[in-house]
Amino acid sequence: MKIAVIGSGYVGLVTGACFAELGNDVICVDIDEDKISRLNNNIVPIYEPGLDEMIRRNRKEGRLGFTTDLRKAIKESDVIFICVGTPPKENGEADVSYVESVAGTIADVMDSYKVIVEKSTVPVETGEKVAKSIKDYNIHKVDFDVVSNPEFLREGAAIDDFMHPDRIVIGCESEKSRQIMKKLYEPLKAPICFTDIKSAEIIKHASNSFLATKISFINAISGICELAGADIEKVAEGMGLDKRIGRRFLNAGIGYGGFCFPKDAEAFIRISEKLGYDFRLLKEVQEVNHAQRKNFVKKIEKALWVVKGKTIGILGLAFKPDTDDMRFAPSVEIIKALQMDGAKIKAYDPKAAGKAREIFKEIIYCDNPYDAAKGSDALVIITEWDEFKELDLKKIKSLMKHPLVIDGRNIYEPESMRKEGFAYISIGRKDVV
Ligand code: NAD
Repeated sequence: MKIAVIGSGYVGLVTGACFAELGNDVICVDIDEDKISRLNNNIVPIYEPGLDEMIRRNRKEGRLGFTTDLRKAIKESDVIFICVGTPPKENGEADVSYVESVAGTIADVMDSYKVIVEKSTVPVETGEKVAKSIKDYNIHKVDFDVVSNPEFLREGAAIDDFMHPDRIVIGCESEKSRQIMKKLYEPLKAPICFTDIKSAEIIKHASNSFLATKISFINAISGICELAGADIEKVAEGMGLDKRIGRRFLNAGIGYGGFCFPKDAEAFIRISEKLGYDFRLLKEVQEVNHAQRKNFVKKIEKALWVVKGKTIGILGLAFKPDTDDMRFAPSVEIIKALQMDGAKIKAYDPKAAGKAREIFKEIIYCDNPYDAAKGSDALVIITEWDEFKELDLKKIKSLMKHPLVIDGRNIYEPESMRKEGFAYISIGRKDVV
């Protein structure tokens, strides 16, 4: 099938590359000329495991191309995936102006039947508005269908998630578009949940909000564990063995971040409000998330007594492992708070330093975890990259000014840290002091 993917970011690039890998003829579009010129030189602007090779292979085999020519891409495609950003506006609502702008161009150019697929995360009723706008402005008055096909990929595991999804959600309201979407996704042999468009839009926001709720729930329990002297890891294990609950997303830590959960929860609250529902549960989920971050900073402040003039080594800047994405990363808020306290920050992240440099000029970027530990009064773990789980702790201790580790992701065992001679503070477990 001939596919245009509009918006070549984390979602668009993975969508484009994977559909090409499945044998389709794909053109990825972006308004960012620099991004497209880099992609045309095999330079992938994001870090996503396996994506470089997949893009290179499919370009070489002629199934994948990159362009800034949106009009041509629309004209020459049967199916158009809208993958542009929907960032939060100041009031928390999703900014759908990029989606509207693409819909406007489609209406202007389209002269034959197309399936227009919203893959970006959008408020419920956006599909309806996209369809109306295209219908009103389409000068050729041709037939088309709008479909909602929300994306559930996780950065860091995006290709695997796309190729082996738990489910594919397709909101469509015509048999023709249903058959086209079915054919497109058939090779994945995954369960397809067909719904109406509005239900598909809500499935996306409801799913992300549910996962955010699970994270905030376990974080709230971690606070209770700290007060009671219990161990959150054991509590999560005991809860998670219940199949109705499940162990995933029960990892206590410094709260969720990234480009999806914070903005989608906020947007869902606003959408519900507009529809006439006060989503108090989700507001509380956000509150717990903010508090978790603040409490973590307090733990650091308490452990160091006076932060001013201290050197703090940070391990991990990206909002999660295996990505370079810094959008709404917990590290940003934590580092800013520590800088306000007068700390000197040294940081190491395997992939996100480039993007972090656009946010923080004044921190020292290290080439490895040992450089970050060198001369530090405390080592703070913010992102649970695998390489941090296998550090030479004896070497770390010998390099630090003071052997204090504050772990926001519970990657070490308190008892083994005690044996290594560290003061060790983590989440929802007894401190080793
Ligand atoms: P992104 O910012 O990485 O990419 C969006 C791209 O769209 C940018 O490159 C931008 O230049 C481009 N763009 C904007 N307007 C355009 C236009 N008129 N024509 C062509 N290109 C245009 O964003 P992302 O992380 O890929 O997210 C895209 C959407 O997918 C969002 O709605 C997001 O919520 C959703 N989503 C993201 C993830 C994720 O993990 N990142 C997962 C699921 C869903």
